[in-house]
Amino acid sequence: SRPIVAIVGRPNVGKSTLFNSLAGEKISIVKDYPGVTRDRIYADVTWLNYQFTMIDTGGIEMDTKDIMLSHMRQQAEIAIETADVIMFLVDVKQGLVDADFKVADMLRKSHKPVVLVVNKVDNFEKYMPDVYEFYNLGIGDPYPISASSKIGLGDMLDEVTSHF
Ligand code: GDP
Ligand code: MG
Repeated sequence: SRPIVAIVGRPNVGKSTLFNSLAGEKISIVKDYPGVTRDRIYADVTWLNYQFTMIDTGGIEMDTKDIMLSHMRQQAEIAIETADVIMFLVDVKQGLVDADFKVADMLRKSHKPVVLVVNKVDNFEKYMPDVYEFYNLGIGDPYPISASSKIGLGDMLDEVTSHF
């Protein structure tokens, strides 16, 4: 069966945008109730000769919605349980926050392959110095991307698929 790749990260780092960019087509958002949107959370992705199933953990209903850290911990637990490779998405514009370090610790201890993806690097020259800050998470090389402009996705996917 196909490898499973889970996307973990704080709200607003761009998980759904990355998911849609990799899924290749605009995912339709289903409105169950007025004002409530439910994003699709699974997609099959083909990259070169690789096929995998991608999960956007940000779209999974959680027990905790209010506290960001417990929400992220739950995302990480689900990813650690189900995924073959975890994409940990962070935001170059927001920079590093405490919750990122806590989740990085959980992911490191899981011994699952983790790819650290730094999103919103819309201009590589301008933002590369800020990307290096993410080495402080201690989970390896940061892969800069722009999910909305679809920049850097190839190198990132090479790294993800190298763990299959
Ligand atoms: P999620 O909460 O992690 O799923 O984040 P979303 O995918 O909903 O994105 C949150 C916001 O970040 C939206 O306004 C996106 O348009 C924006 N965003 C996502 N990717 C990028 C990017 O590569 N560059 C910039 N500048 N904004 C982005
Ligand atoms: Mg989302």
